[in-house]
Amino acid sequence: MLKLENLTKTFGNHQALKNISTTFPENQTTVIVGPSGSGKSTLLRSLNFLEKPESGHYYFDDLDIDLSKPISNQTILNIRRHTEMVFQGYNLFPHLSVIKNVMEGPVQVLHKNKIEARKQAAELLAKVGLEEKADVYPAQLSGGQAQRVAIARSLAMHPDYIFLDEPTSALDPELELEVLKVLLQIAKEKQSMIIVTHNLAFARQVADKMIFVEDGRILFDGSEHDFFATD
Ligand code: ADP
Ligand code: ADP
Repeated sequence: MLKLENLTKTFGNHQALKNISTTFPENQTTVIVGPSGSGKSTLLRSLNFLEKPESGHYYFDDLDIDLSKPISNQTILNIRRHTEMVFQGYNLFPHLSVIKNVMEGPVQVLHKNKIEARKQAAELLAKVGLEEKADVYPAQLSGGQAQRVAIARSLAMHPDYIFLDEPTSALDPELELEVLKVLLQIAKEKQSMIIVTHNLAFARQVADKMIFVEDGRILFDGSEHDFFATD
C-alpha cells in the first residue's frame, strides 16, 4: 500500500503541492484529475522521486520515508523496483526491437534468463495486441502502438504500481482508444495503477478511486461512484 501524509512541494516561491494526504489502494486504479497546472504531474512524479518533495511522509508497505530528510539512492532504487512510470512520450529504446524493449528490464535489472524473458515478453505483446510487431523497431510503430509497447514493458517488471502520466495525450482519438482498451483490461486484472488523465469518460470506466486536485490541494478523494454522482 502506498500512502502520503502532508506532502508539500515548492518550486521557487510557488507551492505546487500543499499538504497532500491520501492513499493509493493496492489492486485498484486511482485516477488523478484537475485543471492544467494544478499539480497532477508533480504529484505523480513525487511518487517515483522524479521530484523531491520538501516535507511529509511517504509510506510504502513497511517503509516510512520522512520527505524532509535526504533520501538515499538505495531507497529510491527500492521504490523504483516496485513501481513503473509510463510517460506521454513512450521512451522506448530506438536501437532495440519491440520484443527486446520489453525484455530489457527483466534481463538487465531482474537478471531473468533470456529464454524466459522472451517468452514473457511475447505473452505481454499479445496482451497489448502487438504480437506481430515483436521484431520491428520503435520508429516503425504508430504512437498508439508505441504506447502499448511501453505499457507491456512496464508490466514485464511485475511492478506493485504502474504510474501513467497522460498516457494518451499525444495520440489521435482512434489511437487513443486502442491504448485505453489495453488499460481497461489491465485494470480488470487488478494491476495497481495511478493514472493522470484529462479524459473523464475513460476515468469513469477505469477508476476505482478518484482524486481531484486544484491549486496543489486535494479537493475530492473518494470512490469513482461518489465522484461522478456528485457533480
Ligand atoms: P499539472 O500536471 O496539473 O498540469 P504540474 O504538476 O505540471 O501541473 O505543475 C504544477 C505547478 O508547478 C504549475 O504551476 C507548474 O508551472 C509548476 N511546475 C511544475 N514543474 C515545475 C518545475 N520543474 N519548475 C518550476 N515550476 C514547476
Ligand atoms: P503537464 O501540464 O503535462 O504536466 P507541463 O508543460 O506543465 O506539462 O510540464 C512539462 C515539464 O516542464 C515538466 O517536466 C515540468 O516539471 C516542467 N515545468 C513545468 N512548469 C515549469 C516551470 N514553470 N518552470 C520550469 N519547469 C517547468
